[in-house]
Amino acid sequence: MKKKKQVKKRPFLPPMSFSYEGSQASKTGTWRYLTPAYLNKLAPCNESCPAGEDVEAAMVLAGQEDYLGAWEKITQENPLPRVCGRVCFHPCEAACNRKEFDEATSINALERFVGDQAFQSGKRPPPPQEKKREKVAIIGSGPAGLSCAYHLSSLGYGVTLFEAQPKLGGVLRYGIPSYRLPKDILDQEIDNILSLGVEAKTGVRVGKDVRWAELKNFDAVFVAAGAWKSLPLKVPGEDAKGVMSGLEFLQRVNSGQPVDPGQRVAIIGGGNTAMDAARSALRLGAKPLIIYRRTREEMPAWEEEVSETGEESIEFIFLSSPVKIVTENGKVKGVECIKNLLGPIGKDGRREPRPIEGSNFTLPVDAVISAIGETPDFSFLPEELRQYTGSLPVDETGATGVKGVFAGGDIIAQPRTVAYAIGSGKKAAMAVDATLRGKNAVEGLRSARWGEKGSLSMARYKKGGTDGIAPEVIPFSALNTAYFKRQVRKRKEKLPLSRRTSGFSEVNLGLSPDSALYEAKRCFNCGVCNLCHNCFIYCPDLAISARPDKQGYDINYDYCKGCCICVEECPRGAISVEVKK
Ligand code: FAD
Repeated sequence: MKKKKQVKKRPFLPPMSFSYEGSQASKTGTWRYLTPAYLNKLAPCNESCPAGEDVEAAMVLAGQEDYLGAWEKITQENPLPRVCGRVCFHPCEAACNRKEFDEATSINALERFVGDQAFQSGKRPPPPQEKKREKVAIIGSGPAGLSCAYHLSSLGYGVTLFEAQPKLGGVLRYGIPSYRLPKDILDQEIDNILSLGVEAKTGVRVGKDVRWAELKNFDAVFVAAGAWKSLPLKVPGEDAKGVMSGLEFLQRVNSGQPVDPGQRVAIIGGGNTAMDAARSALRLGAKPLIIYRRTREEMPAWEEEVSETGEESIEFIFLSSPVKIVTENGKVKGVECIKNLLGPIGKDGRREPRPIEGSNFTLPVDAVISAIGETPDFSFLPEELRQYTGSLPVDETGATGVKGVFAGGDIIAQPRTVAYAIGSGKKAAMAVDATLRGKNAVEGLRSARWGEKGSLSMARYKKGGTDGIAPEVIPFSALNTAYFKRQVRKRKEKLPLSRRTSGFSEVNLGLSPDSALYEAKRCFNCGVCNLCHNCFIYCPDLAISARPDKQGYDINYDYCKGCCICVEECPRGAISVEVKK
């Protein structure tokens, strides 16, 4: 039988929609449940910089080899990048997200590099754009006073800086030794500040050469007199010849005055002053010995300084306290100490040293440098402010109890570091400006805040807080680290040990140009779009396009279906998602 030819049935095709328009006519954006949007967030380094620098933005510019642009970004906030790049304890690096990945970016060394580059190209801060009629007096020219002077004169105010010492700089000049901060670098940055029209009256001590009452001609006063009174050891023999305070010793060394610490010198204390005094004494030919009452772990000095002190073979005696200065004919001959054990945790959160009875021992020494702490002197202040001890109370704007008088730096209760002093000088400048312009200072400072740690940005203050950066700090977990490769951190180069202690030449030599660029490029640029194109490349709907000004991207919500691949693929968490309710 002939087989019947099977006729294949054509599958049933439903009627097709057909459009004469392009696929763009189909606005798929209506399906969207999640809406991605570009939103720059706060990098943790910015939030943690007590001087309020826009570290992240400066790193982007440095990564493009625009070092002068980076310097401009930094100096909007801090007039002393060369100084800070040498002596800041860099809390920015402690907060750096990169440390969760491999090692923190060398922000501090880059700041120094950027500052040095700007100096070499003759870059100066721009002159004030306007002149205001009000005048402000600043007492003290340490980092707090210098920062306040810089910001107020940039805002157009007339500034007079009163400084008791013959030269400006405070501890930067008379405390920190040249092997850590060469004085020509300090001079150059001070010169930048003075170029804005700041009047400096050096060798003028307020309370002695100028009476407090004479300051009434100023519209506001900023007190930044630091903490220069050394705490006494409170042991017999303390007034013998050959005993001096750490700050007094360093002041003499830094002003080029003759000082002879003898052969064997005991330095009492575990802070920065003690390390600087010991290392300076070593450079003057003495054999220093640091006596500290607790262990190395409890030392308040900056870890980098402690290890450099150790590298220079300076001897430490831990868990020991002086009980007597041994003298002969009124001159130091030795120091008697007692050994300690560490007891329970005290008020300052550290374990209390407890003397071990009968454990006394005597060390023969020619001099004793006491560096157990410094406290402010309020004797030049008006009656109402003279009653305090320890630190001068101020409110959240830096205002004291006397109208028009603000205070900052080491004289108030805040961490005693250069960056905090710079930040408090800037805060006072903002508060003075807001007050003199009849604005609410608290509101003004709030608009200038970077995150929650108290850092303030002058750039934000000037814009009333509208710089497009969301207040939330971007955590490591919000970054897409698949786009980064692990890289060894480049460190500052150092003078060889053999050449360090024969003089006061700078020990840290900074980064080479190649290392600086490498470090700038290691920065994750947390939370901020740096135009990497990932969102644009990965968007399956072609809904993302580069802006004509090349300053970012636009999302066309007519076509964005809310897949949020862009959010996922953004390496730095600069795109946020909103859930459609
Ligand atoms: P200061 O720097 O102390 O300046 C105050 C100025 O006010 C002085 O110049 C003083 O002469 C002047 N003055 C006082 N009274 C009067 C008056 N009546 N009239 C006129 N002028 C007056 N911090 C860091 O971050 N990194 C470091 O490496 C570091 N190293 C340090 C090393 C030493 C030895 C010391 C002591 C401190 C160090 N610090 C360091 C801390 C840091 O230097 C201080 O926190 C900072 O200098 C405080 O700045 P300031 O502006 O408040 O005061």
